Amino acid sequence: MSEFQPFPGAALDRCGLNRHAVFDLADLPDGIVGDTIGYRQLILIGHGGKALWEAVTKSGSGGADPIDEFTVRTIRQWMAEFQPDNRYAILYPGPQPVALQQLGTLAGWHHASPFMVGIDAEWGTWYAYRAVVLADTHFAPSPAVDRINPCAACQTRPCIAACPAAAMADGTFSLQKCAAWRKQADSPCAFTCLARVACPVGSDHRYCTAQLAHTYSISLQTIKEHY
Ligand code: SF4
Ligand code: SF4
Repeated sequence: MSEFQPFPGAALDRCGLNRHAVFDLADLPDGIVGDTIGYRQLILIGHGGKALWEAVTKSGSGGADPIDEFTVRTIRQWMAEFQPDNRYAILYPGPQPVALQQLGTLAGWHHASPFMVGIDAEWGTWYAYRAVVLADTHFAPSPAVDRINPCAACQTRPCIAACPAAAMADGTFSLQKCAAWRKQADSPCAFTCLARVACPVGSDHRYCTAQLAHTYSISLQTIKEHY
């Protein structure tokens, strides 16, 4: 008989939290998360595509970030239903920084695109990290997803030409150019990224205008505060 508990991922899938990876904390590189004392595992939860936004919209979630609010509420309900005897802590969303892309790389989810948003062959860039949970669970650790970086085979690189700020024209991504362009009055990149939209990979999963506006309004606010 397996020593592992079955991972009840279908209940998260139904809420649009449809990407999951389980790590044994003992197998993670040092320093990737802070204090983990008392926990055995780290559960990385993400979303791919449009289903999460549809679920958030239907739920009537609000607050400063309705996606975060919905995600935390969903995870608390999920743990209460499926792991009522296991202790857990939600590290992200939360106040302390978490190395999300490093965890995404270990999960096999993350490859760097020219505009520094993660990409994979199935979802394109239309996915994101939604939660990092520490728990004393006994789920089977997830094997890393094994997909190549689609950018490696992309000859024409339409994302680079689509960027009105020429933020990738020098062969690397210039956050300064991108930020300056986005801060302009009536910028076409205030609530979207034209480079991201131009990428053909995973385009069936592309966010709707409202989800794009939600995502990019948060990053625009960060840019206005810090650049
Ligand atoms: S357009 Fe090509 S190079 Fe740009 S992100 Fe998409 S796959 Fe990568
Ligand atoms: S947000 Fe606009 S300026 Fe920034 S990388 Fe995307 S297309 Fe370029």
